[in-house]
Amino acid sequence: MTIGEYSFWRMWTLTTGTLVQLMNLSAFWSILAQLLGAMKPIMSGVTVQPATSSATTNKADRVGLTPHIFIGTSFVPPLYPWLLCRGTQRAENRKKYDQARQEFLTKPKPPEKSHNYSGCRTGRAVVVSKAALCQVPPMGKNLSYTAVGLDRVHHRRRDNAWIAGRLADEKTRIVPVWQDRSLISPGAATIEGTPGDTPKAVLLGGKQKQVLLAEADHVTLLGLDGDIAYFAADISQADETARDALAGAGEFHDLRRVGALMAGPEAALLAYARGLMYWHRRHVFCGLCGNPTESHDGGHLRRCTNAGDPHNHFPHTDPAVIMLVSHDNPHGNGPACLLGRQSRWAEGMYSTLAGFVEPGETLEEAVAREVLEESGVRVTNVEYKASQPWPFPSSLMLGFRVRAETAEIKIDDREIEDAQWFRPEEVRSFGEWCAAPSGGAPGGVSPVLGKAGGAHAPAGEKRLPRKDSISRWLIEGWLEDVGCGK
Ligand SMILES: [Zn+2]
Repeated sequence: MTIGEYSFWRMWTLTTGTLVQLMNLSAFWSILAQLLGAMKPIMSGVTVQPATSSATTNKADRVGLTPHIFIGTSFVPPLYPWLLCRGTQRAENRKKYDQARQEFLTKPKPPEKSHNYSGCRTGRAVVVSKAALCQVPPMGKNLSYTAVGLDRVHHRRRDNAWIAGRLADEKTRIVPVWQDRSLISPGAATIEGTPGDTPKAVLLGGKQKQVLLAEADHVTLLGLDGDIAYFAADISQADETARDALAGAGEFHDLRRVGALMAGPEAALLAYARGLMYWHRRHVFCGLCGNPTESHDGGHLRRCTNAGDPHNHFPHTDPAVIMLVSHDNPHGNGPACLLGRQSRWAEGMYSTLAGFVEPGETLEEAVAREVLEESGVRVTNVEYKASQPWPFPSSLMLGFRVRAETAEIKIDDREIEDAQWFRPEEVRSFGEWCAAPSGGAPGGVSPVLGKAGGAHAPAGEKRLPRKDSISRWLIEGWLEDVGCGK
């Protein structure tokens, strides 16, 4: 006997199987017992009250049910046709599922997308042009050391044969780093005011490249610009004679002396190389087991030589928040921004407040904490503006604009020596940054930069932060917004 495509035995199996499963449900029997108990007093003319003693009834009460709603319901006889329909529906659903699965398995798959990674993007992206990379938001316009414009070729870093081929390629260029200094074209101007030509990065190829690679302690793949590969090579261990012989075409400078005067992508390339070489030199031994480490993945991984349990170490940057704090009217004469200075800074220089992000802290919390700790001012409306790699030595600066809720300043003199509210006209009257350290001799020599400073601003004059800093960028942006831009 058949009904449609289902045999009698199939329907019998479905029906009895479902009934057996239903019989096994203790909840079903519990509800049935409640129904029978509720019907009994009605049959005898007694008013029903919800029971409160049994666990089952309590549970029903918690979900908003009482035995009343089932009174008069006799659902067992209609259950049989429902079970028959349910078994038929299940079989139809199974048939649809089998058809869909078969279609899925036999349907042609779309091709896999490219897994190439680009330098400035997160996530998957095909190799993109330098111009496209420079348009990736958010990025502070004219911020130094950003937009390096290289494809970092993450997917090729473990391909040693490919890397060796690129190193041997005559088009390849090497960015030399000597004791954290970058090779700059000779006779270049500096930020301290040394007259000269616009600084240019000197990248080595040909015979110079071979000599450089032979002397280098660390060599790292930076990335590709079209079909030209760029590597960084650290020659910090080379003596001055060897260094001079290698350099030849230029002079080694601290990037902070020339970066603000260079073309953006060149400065970014030198900053990238400097940051990676700094990390390599400080991770030649494992911090966990003390064994020497070796370079892997094109120089983007150091692994210790502990045969039993090798440890991996990856390059890192230290996130630091830096924020321009604004107030609509702290002293009754219009808007102002909060700037402070540390005693070790260049004489007269005032800058935005900043500090490192601590473990377990959000960026917003770090911003509010640092401002409160250093100045005693409470802030709100933490608004992200832009970020800047700052490899001096290994930071990533995260720039914010925040609004002050309070105006009273109470500095922490262990961190800063002064903080003040400055009106836009006052900030615009500040002198330009220069290298002379506070407390040094007049027109003195910076112990860091080794050049005379103080030529641009008279003693006692307040000065802006460096042109290549995100602090300066945040201040200039605020001045524009309050109508005091250049
Ligand atoms: Zn180790």
